[in-house]
Amino acid sequence: MTENVRSFYEHVAQTSDAPMGLEIERAEGCHIYTKDGRKFVDLISGIAVSSLGHRHPNVIKAIKKQLDKHLHVMVYGEFIQEPQSRFASLLCDNLPDLLDRVYFVNSGTEAIEGALKLAKKYTGRSKFISFHNSYHGDTHGSLSITGRNVYRDPYEPLLPNVHFIDFNSNAGLSEIDENTAAVVMEPIQGEGGIIEANPEWMIEVREKCNDAGALLIFDEIQTGFYRTGKLFAFEHYDVVPDILCLAKAMGGGMPMGAFVSSTEIFEVFKHDPPLNHVTTFGGHPVSCAAAHANLSVLLNGNFEDKAFQIAEMACHMFRGKGIEEIRGRGAMLGLQLRDAELTQKVVADCIEKGIILGWTLHSNSLIRIAPPLIIDRSLLEKSFQTILNSVQKYV
Ligand code: PMP
Repeated sequence: MTENVRSFYEHVAQTSDAPMGLEIERAEGCHIYTKDGRKFVDLISGIAVSSLGHRHPNVIKAIKKQLDKHLHVMVYGEFIQEPQSRFASLLCDNLPDLLDRVYFVNSGTEAIEGALKLAKKYTGRSKFISFHNSYHGDTHGSLSITGRNVYRDPYEPLLPNVHFIDFNSNAGLSEIDENTAAVVMEPIQGEGGIIEANPEWMIEVREKCNDAGALLIFDEIQTGFYRTGKLFAFEHYDVVPDILCLAKAMGGGMPMGAFVSSTEIFEVFKHDPPLNHVTTFGGHPVSCAAAHANLSVLLNGNFEDKAFQIAEMACHMFRGKGIEEIRGRGAMLGLQLRDAELTQKVVADCIEKGIILGWTLHSNSLIRIAPPLIIDRSLLEKSFQTILNSVQKYV
């Protein structure tokens, strides 16, 4: 065991008894290289992060350029930093008119925390509606609205007044009432097992929010930045949220999150008291420079088609071959297998064969597939064939 491996197991806080434990040397494009000389195809993009692959040259160039200018200079919101302003304006130019202001944070869960506070302050209400099987992050506010008891129970008491209802069902919608600050929804539940919202139902939720004066918050932390074939998943639906939460793929591999809303809604963050929501590192200039380069490439690269082709190849290759169901949209896919035991065998076998795969947090019988959008056809086909061989070996 090398010193590096020993230190990881002895001094880096662990999140399970069975980490994947690959010892990383470097990563480039769709590949990750380990210190023992192996080469892996990253078929989950570091969990929906590396949409342009690892170390996209434009992202690296933007990072290097910013390194020569400045790193952190001041807490969020005080100084005018060009990387923040440029990226905020590029992002807003590609969003509906009402989403015209961006608050930068460092991660997905922080984006959710900020959105919850913003909704409470704007509406003067404290009730939240969330969905069974949802995932929104692991800090206290985000965990409070995450729809799975096994993760919430050890940390109770959490935020009070959170009501969980069924996804894609009208049954619970009467919970959205005049006490509701916001409904928080992933347009496609990611960790819940790649479950798409039904378009008519989503319109119903939007209308209920309008009638009740509640805000609609979309968690697009996993679905954003062309993962589903549109810049944002809400574009597949005829619905615009009041607050949009982003992270993961936004920074092109740098840590970054944001919640986006309207000038009118964000007004409440400026007073009573002033500075009632600040962050030291949110909107870090290097992350913003990377995010600007990342989004510029995404906007000019025909990624709608690329994501669609990934879905098409998955359907073509996997349908009816020992796989119970193929779910998802674009490059956010799930292969539902018979049970968790089979899924774990397939994932382990594929890793052994050089394909990095995983399951989702709430669904361990589902294989998650989220390749970099830049993946070429032959590598994708080869990787899918490896998965298929493995499924057929164990099924
Ligand atoms: N929301 C969703 C939908 C997510 O998939 C995740 C991360 N898996 C989060 C929130 C939390 O993001 P982070 O890990 O950056 O805090």
